[in-house]
Amino acid sequence: MDFQFITPSEVIEYLYCPRFVYFMNVLRIDQHEHRRHLVNKGRDIHDLKLVQNKDYLRSRIGVKDKILDAYLSSEKHHLVGKIDEVLFLNDGNAAPLDYKYAFWENKVFKTHLMQQSLYAILIQENFSVPVNQAFLVYVRSKNHLETITITEPMKQKALAIVDDIFKIINEGSFPNAKAEVRKCEDCTYRNLCVS
Ligand code: SF4
Repeated sequence: MDFQFITPSEVIEYLYCPRFVYFMNVLRIDQHEHRRHLVNKGRDIHDLKLVQNKDYLRSRIGVKDKILDAYLSSEKHHLVGKIDEVLFLNDGNAAPLDYKYAFWENKVFKTHLMQQSLYAILIQENFSVPVNQAFLVYVRSKNHLETITITEPMKQKALAIVDDIFKIINEGSFPNAKAEVRKCEDCTYRNLCVS
């Protein structure tokens, strides 16, 4: 199998259900509708760009420099990802900032925690700076800004998921699934999937 890199978006799909990795990356059966639903951003790029052009969010955080729309990769971890903003902070650390075209629901989803942990790894490897925070902007809740602490155990957990994904891909093994009934009912792989 010629699979060398995976993206944090694929980690989100794995967290929804590990069998997605099997159907998409082993059998190569794509599911565009579902992917769009999961990624949960970029529905209205124009709106996002309008927010991104405002500096007030970054001034609240204490940013001395930034890179917009950064494509970063890690050969070591076989990861690649596009980060809305890489922020270099006044305290010498760096952090990803990610726009979610979504409402703030008073909690950060586990999928987003893992996604930001992988972005943190990509940033620290590419720029040799510590990354222990991430910022999420919920565009549909008046740009609610949420700060996440990224810990070492979170990074290790995210990398363990990446290892699991490569295991499924390289071994071509059909993973056990613990998806909720609700997810299976919505899933367009359900006719292929032996639950
Ligand atoms: S039908 Fe259920 S178990 Fe099968 S891939 Fe979809 S969500 Fe996962």
